[in-house]
Amino acid sequence: MSKRDYYEVLGVDKGASKEEIKKAYRKLARKYHPDVNKEANAADKFKEAKEAYEVLGNEQKRAQYDQFGHAGPQNQGFGGFGGSQDFGGGFGDIFDMFFGGGGRSRDPNAPQQGADLQYTMVLDFEEAIFGKETDITIPKEETCDTCSGSGAKPGTKAKTCSHCGGSGQLNMEQNTPFGKVVNRRVCNYCSGSGKIIPDKCNTCGGTGKVKKRKTIHITIPAGIDEGQQIRVSGKGESGVNGGPPGDLFVVVQVKPHDFFQREGDHIFCELPLTFAQAALGDEIEVPTVHGKVKLKIPAGTQTGKTFRMKGKGAPNVRGYGHGDQHIKVKVMTPTKLSERQKELLREFNEIGGHDATDEQGSSLFDRFKKAFKSE
Ligand SMILES: [Zn+2]
Ligand SMILES: [Zn+2]
Repeated sequence: MSKRDYYEVLGVDKGASKEEIKKAYRKLARKYHPDVNKEANAADKFKEAKEAYEVLGNEQKRAQYDQFGHAGPQNQGFGGFGGSQDFGGGFGDIFDMFFGGGGRSRDPNAPQQGADLQYTMVLDFEEAIFGKETDITIPKEETCDTCSGSGAKPGTKAKTCSHCGGSGQLNMEQNTPFGKVVNRRVCNYCSGSGKIIPDKCNTCGGTGKVKKRKTIHITIPAGIDEGQQIRVSGKGESGVNGGPPGDLFVVVQVKPHDFFQREGDHIFCELPLTFAQAALGDEIEVPTVHGKVKLKIPAGTQTGKTFRMKGKGAPNVRGYGHGDQHIKVKVMTPTKLSERQKELLREFNEIGGHDATDEQGSSLFDRFKKAFKSE
């Protein structure tokens, strides 16, 4: 198909000024806009004018067009909608009105998916780790049984809204500096439903929906964590005009535990040891969410040392094994000593209690003493 010359399209001569080109285009845009002009070829004419203006209204593109015509090397850059930066001076407004402001018509009788619902479930620390089966009761909008969702009293019928003819929208003419444009707004007689119900159903008051308390069975997967959510497909609000129901989202909150903390699949805890246990070593029982586990404390264990118990954390919620339990040692300094205990500790000190070393074998006490000398 041979393309018309852009100057010819806009009806201006080759020497036309920027203003003349703009003016010519506005005139054509008003005349052929598809919302205003219902002739069969109006949309094509409108597009043609817009494409011509996008080139001739831009100095750089116009110069290229003057030199190369439609066959120019930059031709692929011409035409099409958008891209032009040259719609200054409030000219963009008319386009907002044409393409956005008025809105496309929407069929109020088309099936629509029901709304999604959200429910917050609070779990104990262990419940999140092991998961559980439970029933929850939520208030839900369901289709009214009395009127089967029509909103009309049984034996009566809803009527098509005479104001909008059932479209749910009213056309509204607006005068602009460029002529009349047609905007659409929601019909205020039927609130956009397109229907008027003369005899409303007593059960639902004409809405076609009733609030019911629904019990839904929920499976909480093992390993779920704070803030994660479970999607229960099709358990949201019921759809409109035969549309599918929405989904139910169960958002999980986990109560904190006195002893355990969780980070992902790993569980962390602090283990208090007496000075004697840490110094002499011991074998003790440590609590885990999976039950008691024996842990060997080697002699000379320092405070802050962490032991890892493999696989004693939370199960991965997607089934990728288990996390670990990390146990951090805290050596407790005794605060209430009997006279006898004090006596023993003094004696311990006198026979070399200062000679404590850390795991690397170097004495922090030695380094401490040296630090005074370097002053
Ligand atoms: Zn209406
Ligand atoms: Zn009803």
